[in-house]
Amino acid sequence: MSSCKVCHLDSKKHNKKLWKLHQETQICVFCSRSSSEHSEKLWRMHNLAAEKGQYCPDHHKQEKLYPLTLGLARTCVARVCKLNADPPYDKELIPIYMECTECNLFLGGKEEDFADILDGMCLKCFRESIGQTDIWYDIPPIKKVSKKGVN
Ligand SMILES: [Zn+2]
Ligand SMILES: [Zn+2]
Ligand SMILES: [Zn+2]
Ligand SMILES: [Zn+2]
Repeated sequence: MSSCKVCHLDSKKHNKKLWKLHQETQICVFCSRSSSEHSEKLWRMHNLAAEKGQYCPDHHKQEKLYPLTLGLARTCVARVCKLNADPPYDKELIPIYMECTECNLFLGGKEEDFADILDGMCLKCFRESIGQTDIWYDIPPIKKVSKKGVN
């Protein structure tokens, strides 16, 4: 059996979807990172977030996505909203964020990166859900293990 170049596990340790994510490098529309840096769940959550964010409530349609770089090397995605104005003011880039499934506040970059572990919640809601409000949990425990060690 072949082993995976990405996570070094045997192909049998992957289901079809995960194998595909690891073997065919695709770029995530949401975070612009490669599919191999996602778990299957995170990939699905990111794709869903991009899909949801693509919908413009003002124009009632799906709009184009455009990668947006925020600050230090962080790329997120924005929706291109067309305005009734003359170029270059005829477009507005609306960044797409994930929302906490509990409190509906926007998630931060770290929370988006660990959305699969945090179950789509912000750190505050996640900590409340597991009954841990200790400051230590500001960093998800998983961060202390290397990302490669997961799954
Ligand atoms: Zn793999
Ligand atoms: Zn992603
Ligand atoms: Zn629009
Ligand atoms: Zn929350």
